[in-house]
Amino acid sequence: MAYTYDPQNIFARILRGEIPNKTVVETAHTLVFHDIHPHAPVHVLAIPKGAYVNFDHFAAEASAEEIVDFHRTVAKVIADLGLSGEAGYRGITNAGRAGLQEVPHYHLHILGGRVLGRLVDPA
Ligand code: AMP
Repeated sequence: MAYTYDPQNIFARILRGEIPNKTVVETAHTLVFHDIHPHAPVHVLAIPKGAYVNFDHFAAEASAEEIVDFHRTVAKVIADLGLSGEAGYRGITNAGRAGLQEVPHYHLHILGGRVLGRLVDPA
């Protein structure tokens, strides 16, 4: 699968420092920041710093170091934001047309702080 990455997407611009963000944590390969339109009391976005369009692109082509850094960082954020254990959270990633992905840079939504609705709307 050949993936085409648009370097002008809004998260690429955030990573270049062209647009401000409310950072939760930043590591060598990962940035976690608050979603600008939160859908829950906690709603953050975790993104790799590399140019990956979506989850399958990241999973297929990122280095082991990037993949480990991303997931360890997400785990730390989940704990730091009080979502681990009983409290719980939902991780969502949207891809392409079916997923209604708006920003074509891989991002994992992490939502919590209230009981969330069902997984997807009925068709
Ligand atoms: P998706 O539909 O999965 O592509 O979600 C894109 C998400 O990015 C939405 O939840 C938006 O609210 C969020 N978003 C868009 N622009 C920004 C921004 N400048 N800072 C933080 N979040 C943003």
